[in-house]
Amino acid sequence: MNHVDRRRQIPRTDVLLAHPRLAQARDRLGPAVLKDAVQQAQQRARAGQIAPEQVLDDVIAGLPRSATTLVPVINATGVVVHTNLGRAPLSTAALEAVATAAGYVDVELGLESGLRSARGRGTLAALRAGVPGAEDALVVNNGAAALVLATTALAAGREVVVSRGELIEIGDGFRLPALIESTGARLREVGTTNRTHLDDYKQAIGMDTGCILKVHPSNFSQHGFVADVGLGQLSDLGVPLVMDLGSGLLRPDPGLPDEPDASTALAAGAHLVTASGDKLLGGPQAGLVLGRAELVQRLRRHPLARALRVDKLTLAALEATVRGPQPPVARYLHADSTALRERVVRLRETVCEGLKADGDWEIVAVHGAVGGGGAPGVPLPGWALTLPAECARALRLGDPAVLARVDHGRCLVDLRCVEPDDDARVAGAIVASLAPRMPAEKP
Ligand SMILES: *Cc1c(COP(=O)(O)O)cnc(C)c1O
Repeated sequence: MNHVDRRRQIPRTDVLLAHPRLAQARDRLGPAVLKDAVQQAQQRARAGQIAPEQVLDDVIAGLPRSATTLVPVINATGVVVHTNLGRAPLSTAALEAVATAAGYVDVELGLESGLRSARGRGTLAALRAGVPGAEDALVVNNGAAALVLATTALAAGREVVVSRGELIEIGDGFRLPALIESTGARLREVGTTNRTHLDDYKQAIGMDTGCILKVHPSNFSQHGFVADVGLGQLSDLGVPLVMDLGSGLLRPDPGLPDEPDASTALAAGAHLVTASGDKLLGGPQAGLVLGRAELVQRLRRHPLARALRVDKLTLAALEATVRGPQPPVARYLHADSTALRERVVRLRETVCEGLKADGDWEIVAVHGAVGGGGAPGVPLPGWALTLPAECARALRLGDPAVLARVDHGRCLVDLRCVEPDDDARVAGAIVASLAPRMPAEKP
């Protein structure tokens, strides 16, 4: 049979779309996604990569797992808050809360009264319970939004007094000074890069001061001839004192002694703290504002607050993160090094069994990282399985997709941020990535 005849046998789009074997996929994914998969399979048949009678099976094999193009990734980098992987993975409790909130929910309704009620009241109550020193709380889109809202509401058209040692760049070119000035507030820089004193602040404060801003320089630390003014000393200068915490710890974490937290900052004298929801708190992307009732209320009443407000999914996930069990971020940060080593040893055994080889891939001591621009220099001791560097790409493109760390020409698989239940899937992915290379020399 010639090529043209074979091409005529490729099933037509409308026939495929209506095929009973694709009915479920049509309901689950929608017609547009299904049509994409159909056209790709037809294209493969036209190119001669598959036979016309294989098209239907090829469509089914090529169906995406959901209507989103986002691909779930197993994080084998050892970096806990991994920005490129969406920062914090949600806890099961938060996930269930998101599913609950996905439909109609009483996010702004009192079921008893039948009347409108305060939006997200359960989430705000959970935050207040988590930080008893906070008189009130507010949730916005992210940490940057919290800072924008605070400086806008307290200092637009006026001055934000901030130390030169705290004018930081967060990441991806995001600079705090630029963000603050975008609100119409003027920066009043005080002190020097390494040393700022109480007198520097006192001299800068005047009629035009909107607020003092303290920023936790979360992605670097200064050592040597440095001086800094504590919150307590800045608390009674007659102007609002805002502390941008960044990380979002509500209470101190003994494992991260240098990381500031909301409770301690408020107790030390901050009037308002701002933080992210999806860094060390381990929740959804959100910006938290906690502190004095009168100041939180000023932010809440500002017209900009409406533009920065969060959706019901975020409110639900955040509440469940704060009220519920320890989120994955906290578990991964405190993962026991001995237990991690045992898991890596077992991982190597499973891989060897899978390959029917006695690969002596090295197990090496590594340091995980907090990530997300947080806790610089805090090493998280752990262990990794060393594979040839080329495995990294195969692992990324495999099913499941696994992101490993490439370091000094080696591919390092660190199980710190992998759920133990997923270890077997990681092993399977490694076997698949190594199989084409067998027998291969060792890295
Ligand atoms: C991360 C961070 C921010 C920005 O928070 P996003 O949630 O990323 O918007 C602001 N300030 C500090 C100190 C940070 O560490």
